[in-house]
Amino acid sequence: MRPERRADADSRAGRCRAVNRANVAATPQWAALDSSLQRAIEVVSVVLPFRSNRYVMDQLIDWDRVPDDPMFQLTFPQGDMLYEEEFDEVDRLLEQGADPRRVAEIADRIRARMNPQPGGQKTHNVPTLDGRRLHGIQHKYRETVLFFPKRGQTCHAYCTYCFRWAQFIGVKDLRFAAIGTDELVSYLRRNPDVTDVLITGGDPLTMKTAVLERYVEPLLQLGQLSSIRIGTKAPATWPHRFTTGSDADDVLRLFDRVVCSGKHLALMVHYSHPIELSTDLARHAIRRIRSTGATIRMQNPVARRINDDSAVWTDLWRTGVRLGCVPYYMFVARDTGPRNYFEVPLARCWEIYQGAYRHLSGLARTVRGPSMSAFPGKVHILGTTCMDGMEVFVLEYLQARDAALVRRPFFARFDPDVTWFDQLEPATERDAAFF
Ligand SMILES: *Cc1c(COP(=O)(O)O)cnc(C)c1O
Ligand code: SF4
Repeated sequence: MRPERRADADSRAGRCRAVNRANVAATPQWAALDSSLQRAIEVVSVVLPFRSNRYVMDQLIDWDRVPDDPMFQLTFPQGDMLYEEEFDEVDRLLEQGADPRRVAEIADRIRARMNPQPGGQKTHNVPTLDGRRLHGIQHKYRETVLFFPKRGQTCHAYCTYCFRWAQFIGVKDLRFAAIGTDELVSYLRRNPDVTDVLITGGDPLTMKTAVLERYVEPLLQLGQLSSIRIGTKAPATWPHRFTTGSDADDVLRLFDRVVCSGKHLALMVHYSHPIELSTDLARHAIRRIRSTGATIRMQNPVARRINDDSAVWTDLWRTGVRLGCVPYYMFVARDTGPRNYFEVPLARCWEIYQGAYRHLSGLARTVRGPSMSAFPGKVHILGTTCMDGMEVFVLEYLQARDAALVRRPFFARFDPDVTWFDQLEPATERDAAFF
């Protein structure tokens, strides 16, 4: 079948066929792409994998604005994501037709310098049950357990700034080898303070409903749980999951059952840009999800070249509220992957947040940010001020490993270039306890 015809057939069936390094050259957009952009994608994707689909390519990316188009930046690897000498090295190896093992070795070396497991994910958040480490669960904040089902560790499309990128490249010991629901349930029974389970990935909605159901159903029996959350980008990058897809009605019935069981079901949807809310299909998906009684909460990071502009956020949150979604978190992009390419200084993140927030109605002012998921907790940047003649950041923890620190203002020396928590210094001795 011709690629276009196949794409139409896939859309009708709701099949998400990946566009990746192996087959991107067969898409109609590829031939029209500038040859230096083609080369950059070929070279960088050796290190940082990409995955897209025909919905993203046909409806979300504006090819007339490439390479500046935000959805292109979100989806495709860019030349400047590698250091120049790294790019040249990989480029040369490909040119020479080097042994794939040699190429893989170099790719691994470059990835290793990109902090593949930020925030102590691998070492500090893995709980134990009867002395055994439960991989596939993270329990950092008392009330909420993150659960990574084994079969939900991929996404419909990868984000180039993703902090879970290590999972996608198949480095075994970097993956969260997930446990089953039985162990999750045992763990929750043993930890009655937990009220929320957040099923995450990757994207759990890449799983067939029958599989997702096996993870969700046992949770409905647990009286201690008030909420089940599902972290997903499917409403943005593959809305067919809730509309025309062969499995769409089943997933909505599952949502309906969770709500009827008396629990709050929240889809924590990663929307990066208002364009993702603009298509008929995306809006149809939101209506169908909301018709089950599930709520949609919006959260995502600020990233240079994608959404580092207040107007983009005003539009995102306003449109979200119009469609019935609840703005939840604005994050600072994490210190991993091609961070130099995307990072926005904390001071600038705050300006973007404030510049958007001040134009919003109260219904959209549910959004909190900018927030950094750092090792000790979620650090909220409240702004800057002057203290004893010193310019400082005003900060607080929205979540903390040590719950006693939550919501207590503290201060760090102001620096306009700082991009992450570990670069901040306490303003006074009293503040040192928060670092
Ligand atoms: C953000 C986060 C949560 C959820 O925090 P909420 O403030 O309840 O949304 C839970 N665990 C980890 C590790 C997180 O980063
Ligand atoms: S949707 Fe989330 S987990 Fe998936 S690639 Fe994007 S940031 Fe990563």
